[in-house]
Amino acid sequence: MRNAKIVCTLGPASDAESVIQRMVEAGMAVARLNASHGTRDDRAAAIERVQAVDQRIDRPLATMVDLQGPEIRTAPLDEPVHLAEGSEVRFVEGETATESEVGLSHAIPSVDPGERILLDDALIEATILRVDDDAVVARIEEGGELGSRKGVNVPGVDLDLPNPTEDDRRELELAVEQDADYVAASFVRDAEDVYRVEEAIEDLGGEIPVVAKIERDVAVRNLDEIVDAAFGVMVARGDLGVECPMEDVPLIQKRIIRRCRESGTPVITATEMLDSMVHARRPTRAEASDVANAVLDGTDAVMLSAETAVGDDPVAVVETMDRIVRQVERSDEYAELREQRVPTASESRTEALARSARYLARDVGASAVVAASESGYTVLKTAKFRPGVPVVATTPNDDVRRRLALVGGVTARYAPYTDEGADAVVEKAVKAALDAGAADSGDTVVVLSGMMTELEGANTTNMLKVHVAAETLTTGRSVVPGWVSGPVSVVPDGDLTDVPNGAVVALPADFEGEFEGDLGRIAGIVDPSPGMTGYAAMIARELEVPMISDAPVTELSDGQQVTLDAERGVVYDGDISTATEADRR
Ligand code: PEP
Repeated sequence: MRNAKIVCTLGPASDAESVIQRMVEAGMAVARLNASHGTRDDRAAAIERVQAVDQRIDRPLATMVDLQGPEIRTAPLDEPVHLAEGSEVRFVEGETATESEVGLSHAIPSVDPGERILLDDALIEATILRVDDDAVVARIEEGGELGSRKGVNVPGVDLDLPNPTEDDRRELELAVEQDADYVAASFVRDAEDVYRVEEAIEDLGGEIPVVAKIERDVAVRNLDEIVDAAFGVMVARGDLGVECPMEDVPLIQKRIIRRCRESGTPVITATEMLDSMVHARRPTRAEASDVANAVLDGTDAVMLSAETAVGDDPVAVVETMDRIVRQVERSDEYAELREQRVPTASESRTEALARSARYLARDVGASAVVAASESGYTVLKTAKFRPGVPVVATTPNDDVRRRLALVGGVTARYAPYTDEGADAVVEKAVKAALDAGAADSGDTVVVLSGMMTELEGANTTNMLKVHVAAETLTTGRSVVPGWVSGPVSVVPDGDLTDVPNGAVVALPADFEGEFEGDLGRIAGIVDPSPGMTGYAAMIARELEVPMISDAPVTELSDGQQVTLDAERGVVYDGDISTATEADRR
C-alpha cells in the first residue's frame, strides 16, 4: 500500500471516463478540476464521470474543484502579441491586447513605481514607471510572446481583490450541486480568506472542506493561522515561485509540510513535479528526486497538473509517480524519518489515543491500525501520527469515505452504521482491514473507534483495542465448547486413515456413518447437520474436543489451517490461537 496519495488534474487529455478509470488503476486518488480552464459545464460533466468511476472501484476517488481565486489574467487572444524589451506598455482593465496596451481581467490600481509586473509565470517581466488614471505604465525588462489569458503577478502587492470572487461563487454553486469533495481556494492571504470561502459554501447549503493554496508571500507569513483555518493546504509552487524569489520555494515547501505534519493537516505538494512528462516518456532525474523529497518530507499527496491535464500520456505519468513514491516508501530512510518525527498530541483524548495506537501497533507487531469513524475526525487524528503500518478507515458516511482519499497513509472503506454495539463496530472495521488486504486472518490489528457518538458526544474517540483479525469461514452452534487450531480434513465417509494428527474434521451434510480408525487424531469437528445429540456430537463429548454443528462446510478445504471457536460457534481462517490466547486468558 502506498502512503502518499496522487492528485491528478483532469483536462482534455484525461477527462474521458475510460482514461479516468485507467488513471485510478494506476494510482490516482483525487481528481482536480481547475476552474481557471474550460467551462463550468465541462467540469460538471467531468465530476459526474469521476463519481461514476468511484462507484465501480473499491478504493475511494475524490474530486477537488480548484477555484481561480482573485487571479489576474491577460486578455484572451487569437494570436500572441510580442512585447519588446525596453518598450513602454500600458496595462488596463480590458479584453484586448496589442504591443503597447495589454488588457487585464482586473485593474491593478494599488501599485507603485518600481514594483514589478510578471506575466506568464514570469517569462515576461516589466517594471512599473507610473500610474496614469486607469492605466499602469510599465517598461518591459524581459520581453517575449504574450499568449492568451496568461497569469499576471505583482509580487508583494496586495491588489485588494475580493476572495472569493463572483466567478468563484458561481464555481462554488457547481461544487455544491455536484457534491464535490474538496474546494481548493487560490491566492488566500490569511485565515479570513479561508473562512470567507467556507462561509460561501455554507451559504449555498454545502459542507465541503477547503484546501488553502499557499501561493503568495503574505500567505507564507500567515501560514499558522491558515493551517488552523483550513481542512488542508496545498504548496502551490507555480505561483509561489513567481510571487516569492524562486530560491525560497524549496525551503518554504519544507516548512509548510512540517507545519502541516505537526498539526495533522493534510498537505499536497503541487506543480511541475513530473513536468517534462507532458511530452516525454520519462521524467528527468531532478523531477524524480523532487517527488522523492516531497514524500520524504512527509507530504500527504503529490499533485500532477499539465502532465495529466494536457500531457501526451496521463496514465503513464501516474504510473511513474506511483513507482517513485513506492520506492521511497520502501526505504530505510523513509522509515527512519517517520520514527523521528512523531508529533506531540494535543490535550484532546482522541489525539492521545491516536498517538498511543501508533506505538501500540509497533509494539504488538500489528499489521494495521483500523479506525472506525463517522465524521473522519478519528481517522485524521490516527493519520497524524503516521503509524508504520496502513491506517484502514471505516465509515458509514460515503462523503467521508471519498474525502479520506486525500489523507496520507489511509485506506478508506464504507461500512454501514451498526447499532449492535462496540463488538459489531470492531468486527466491521476488522473485516475492512481484511478486505483491503492490509491484514491477513490471524494478524493482530489495533482498532480505534470514534463511532459511539451518542454515548460520548460528537467526534469522540472512545475505544482502543488490540484485536486479532480473523476471517470467518462458517458459523454454527456450539456442541462442545473450546478453541482449537489445525488443518481441515474433509471426511466424507468417516474413514480417518488419511487424517493427520490434530485435524479439524469437516463432515458432509448427509453423514450417517461412523468414524473408522484412530479417533485420537481428531482435534475438532465441524458438522453441517443441525443436531446436538447425533453420533458426531457423542464422539466429540467423549473425546472432549470442540465441536460446532449446523455450520455449512462449503468454504472449508482439505489442508486449510483454521481455528475453531466452539465457544461462539465460529470457524476462522488461519491459525489465530496463539494471537488470541492472551486475549482469552
Ligand atoms: C500553482 O500555482 O502551483 C497552482 C497549483 O495553482 P494553479 O495551477 O491554479 O495556478
